[in-house]
Amino acid sequence: MQLLKDRIRKDGHVAPGGVLKVDSFLNHQIDIDLYNEIGKEFKRLFSDVPVDKILTVEASGIGLACITAQYFGVPVVFAKKSKSKNIEGGVFSSPVHSFTHGKTYDVMVSVKFLHPDENILIIDDFLANGKAAFGLLDIVAQAGANVSGIGIVIEKGFQKGGTQLRSMGVNLHSLAVIRSMDDEGNLEFDDDPEPAKLEN
Ligand code: 5GP
Repeated sequence: MQLLKDRIRKDGHVAPGGVLKVDSFLNHQIDIDLYNEIGKEFKRLFSDVPVDKILTVEASGIGLACITAQYFGVPVVFAKKSKSKNIEGGVFSSPVHSFTHGKTYDVMVSVKFLHPDENILIIDDFLANGKAAFGLLDIVAQAGANVSGIGIVIEKGFQKGGTQLRSMGVNLHSLAVIRSMDDEGNLEFDDDPEPAKLEN
C-alpha cells in the first residue's frame, strides 16, 4: 500500500533491536484518514472470503480492527492481555511472547464471543516472529471457528512469522513488507527497489 509505505518513509523511526517506531501516526497518535484507507484496503484484499467477526489483540490492534470492521459490517473481538476478574464463564487463552516487551503473557477471549464455525479475520498492526498471530490462531482453533485470513499493517519480512504463516497456507496479506532495516535507519520494502533513509 503505497500511501502507508510513503508515510513510514516520512515519519517512521528505527529504534535499537529491530523495532520500527510508527507512533506518530499508527499506534500512539493515530492518523484517522490513514486508518480509513487501511480499513478499505483490508476490505478489498479480503472481499473474496467470508468474514463474520474480526479478531485482534489489545491495545494497538483495536483501532485498526474497528475501522476495518466498519467496511465489513461485522463486530470486533479483542483478546485481552491482562487477567481480568470480570470475564464471566470460561475463556479461550494462549501464551504469547511479546517481541517488544520481552515477556510472555496469556491472551484471552471469553467463550461468549467466539463460536464454532464462525469465520474470523485476524487483524494486527505488526507481524515480526508471529507469536501474537499464532496465539490468536490458537484461540480461534479452541473455539472451533475458521480463520478466513490474517491482515497485517506492517510485516517485518526479515523475521520469521510471515514465512511460517504462508508455509502453513494461511491467507495472509500485509500492507507493507519490510525486507531489511538497520539501526542506522536504512529501510527497504519488499517490492520497492529504492532504499529509504529514516531518522533515528
Ligand atoms: P510478533 O508476535 O509477530 O513477534 O510481534 C508482533 C507484535 O509485536 C505486534 O502486535 C506489535 O505490537 C509488536 N511489534 C513487533 N515488532 C514491532 C516493531 O518493530 N514496532 C512496533 N511498534 N511494534 C512491534
